[in-house]
Amino acid sequence: MRQSKLFTKTKRESPTDEVSKNAELLIRGGFVHKEMAGVYDYLPLGLQVLRKIENIIREEMNAIGGQEVFLSALQEKELWQKTNRWDDEIVDNWFKTKFKNETELGLAFTHEEPLTRLMKDFVNSYRDLPFSAYQFQNKFRNETRAKSGVMRTREFIMKDLYSFCKDEKEHNEFYEKAKEAYEKIFQRVGIGHITYLTFASGGVFSKYSHEFQALTGAGEDTIYIDEDKGIAINKEVYTDEVIENLGLSKERLVEKRAVEVGNIFTLGTRFSEALDLTYQTEKGDKKNVFMGSYGIGPARLMGTVVEALADDKGIIWPESIAPFRVHLLVLGEDKEVIKKAEEIYAELLKNKIEVLFDDRGEMSPGEKFADADLLGMPIRLVVSQRSMKESGIELKKRNEEKGKIVSQEELLDLLKLEPRA
Ligand code: ATP
Ligand code: MG
Repeated sequence: MRQSKLFTKTKRESPTDEVSKNAELLIRGGFVHKEMAGVYDYLPLGLQVLRKIENIIREEMNAIGGQEVFLSALQEKELWQKTNRWDDEIVDNWFKTKFKNETELGLAFTHEEPLTRLMKDFVNSYRDLPFSAYQFQNKFRNETRAKSGVMRTREFIMKDLYSFCKDEKEHNEFYEKAKEAYEKIFQRVGIGHITYLTFASGGVFSKYSHEFQALTGAGEDTIYIDEDKGIAINKEVYTDEVIENLGLSKERLVEKRAVEVGNIFTLGTRFSEALDLTYQTEKGDKKNVFMGSYGIGPARLMGTVVEALADDKGIIWPESIAPFRVHLLVLGEDKEVIKKAEEIYAELLKNKIEVLFDDRGEMSPGEKFADADLLGMPIRLVVSQRSMKESGIELKKRNEEKGKIVSQEELLDLLKLEPRA
């Protein structure tokens, strides 16, 4: 992509109405646009990041057998009354609206109810189980606080997977697989090293739920981590009893700020009982399906990456989710230099290397460098009179201080050899 054609422009000034670093950098870089408090639009560069994160999640969900669906966001009052989750006194973040005939409806903040009901059409016998279904779908939540940029918004895409098993034993097996899939996702997105499996409050069917908490000062949660074991306890369940229960010792636990990037939960038969989702066992009796739910917010992940990896010059995207892998800059107006840069751009495209080409005229080198740092592509290539004097191209990684000159021949080999995360 040519940067001269990109309709978004970077901004030098920070927005005055943002307190979070992720929103500030993402808005300045033109990744997102703020509609109102807690409501953001995704622009071309931001959408690329979001889609790449979604694809990593999708691959890992498919790998554990998840089947993708897409449910409606419009919710029927009667359905949610059956599980006692319609009342605003009980669920305080509903957005609700009405049909023209005054029938009330809700905008989904989660999808346990409709998906459980839907499965009544398809689950009859023990032979139909186990399986899991997931979606990427907009959730609406009337969040009280919306000061964390894209990490907590009032409309957001969630990947939510639901598992349907015959019994607790079968569920536990799937749950472990899901846990491993989650670990892979956070690794691949580039925050594996700061993400901790965290014990949080469970429900009737299990003592704990598991959150995946990423360390960042921008997080709203407090957790206690055991660095050696790589696990943590959420403050909400942090008691002497729980510490002992998990075989941890208080002296080793360190208090940290973190953000919940994902969450897995044993639902048991809470929903299948309320909505009568049953199957016939081998012996011929009727049993409730045993369920679990597994959520991740791709935009929250994106915000977390910005918060955790950025430096004072801007964003640093991991290769796996960067909008473009390479940012190619041409400096100055010299015809030979421009010709060389165009040649390299064409060659990168031919070799299917994702590249943003800063071909904008009337821009000082300083402005171009500042934009490249702000936008955060992993590899910066510079073609200038100086680099050409050294008969090459300057290659610098965003997370390294110094670059090096490489020849045109070396360049492609180098880019091909670079491991793609
Ligand atoms: P939190 O405790 O942070 O409010 P939650 O426990 O309500 O989140 P879940 O209902 O488990 O969140 O949602 C699953 C995932 O969706 C979360 O782990 C998070 O990644 C993401 N998520 C939740 N709320 C938001 C939001 N308001 N904006 C963006 N992502 C969100
Ligand atoms: Mg939570």
